[in-house]
Amino acid sequence: MSNDYYEILGVAHDATPEQIKKAYRKLAREHHPDVAGDDPAAEDRFKDVSRAYEVLGNPEKRRAYDLGADPSSPGGGMGGGFGFQDIFETFFGAATGASAQRGPIPRSRRGQDALVRLDLDLTEVTFGVHREVAVDTAVLCPTCQGSCCRPGTSPRTCEVCHGRGTVQRVARSFLGQVMTNQPCAACRGFGSTIPEPCTECAGEGRVRSRRTLAVDVPAGVDTGTRIKLTGQGEVGPAGGPAGDVYLEVRERRHEVFQRDGDDLHATLSVPMTAAALGTVLTLDTLDGPQEVDLHPGTQPEQVVTLKGLGVGHLHVGGRGDLHVHVDVTVPTALDDEQVELLQRLAALRGEERPEARFAASHQGVFSKLRDKLAGR
Ligand SMILES: [Zn+2]
Ligand SMILES: [Zn+2]
Repeated sequence: MSNDYYEILGVAHDATPEQIKKAYRKLAREHHPDVAGDDPAAEDRFKDVSRAYEVLGNPEKRRAYDLGADPSSPGGGMGGGFGFQDIFETFFGAATGASAQRGPIPRSRRGQDALVRLDLDLTEVTFGVHREVAVDTAVLCPTCQGSCCRPGTSPRTCEVCHGRGTVQRVARSFLGQVMTNQPCAACRGFGSTIPEPCTECAGEGRVRSRRTLAVDVPAGVDTGTRIKLTGQGEVGPAGGPAGDVYLEVRERRHEVFQRDGDDLHATLSVPMTAAALGTVLTLDTLDGPQEVDLHPGTQPEQVVTLKGLGVGHLHVGGRGDLHVHVDVTVPTALDDEQVELLQRLAALRGEERPEARFAASHQGVFSKLRDKLAGR
């Protein structure tokens, strides 16, 4: 079987378009499977005739074929013949690295990842929470299923680059003529064009959509923690695989509890009398009401630790502690009777004229202030 399309159609190299068309119609009728039956040789011959006409019946492709390329076979010259690249290399000498063949760019690409902020309050990060998160994303076009083509149509091999995705250009420079490969402008490097784009997605293969993602947030996440939802991101162009969604946690400040790792800290105001006499107080913790026993003689800055009432440890289980810092409040605006009672107490304790006594430098309020300033 000949590889020469003119020979296959049985026409001269200078045949007119009409002559070519006529020859094709005659041969196609003869070798059509409906006429020739199950003869495999006839089927092959019919394919050859069709391929030959596809090229010679199109003026642009015929011109390319006459130059030595085979526009009907994407990605290379015909067997035994010359591809464009070969011709140029023959004319201009061995190519530079720039002319190395690169394939067309795949139309379908992976979708991008998305970063979505997730605001959580302290109770949610302490115990973990189930949340539903709405994300604006792209999903596969339901009409074309990512093919980008109107249903019933299909992509067409680019007639400019013949499916290569690149075109070669000759640039003149002080080195002489240099071959360069450049992305084909006609098909944007894809090697094919979409003659009839899908109208629903405008040929993108995907459409915008708002989706709701369900996520189980584990206990112990913190501001900056990222939760990855694999494959829940946007579908790529032309129905490419979906990217991932990252939920980035931002913890809301709590009115009472301050978080330090998985421990919690709170300040508890205790009247001077209660601190001196001792008392039992009921605290509203994240786990509900908890009784705290303050011993007689409780001091300012004293810390009562409630084990296991802090934030859950991420992934490993267990919980941090809740540290309650006592703040002793000194009464103001005393009435006459209260002043009298306190004066009697002072007299009983010999504290009417207390001595000026400095605390050691590692003790007292100032050492704590200094620690705070040093960021400890
Ligand atoms: Zn579509
Ligand atoms: Zn092209």
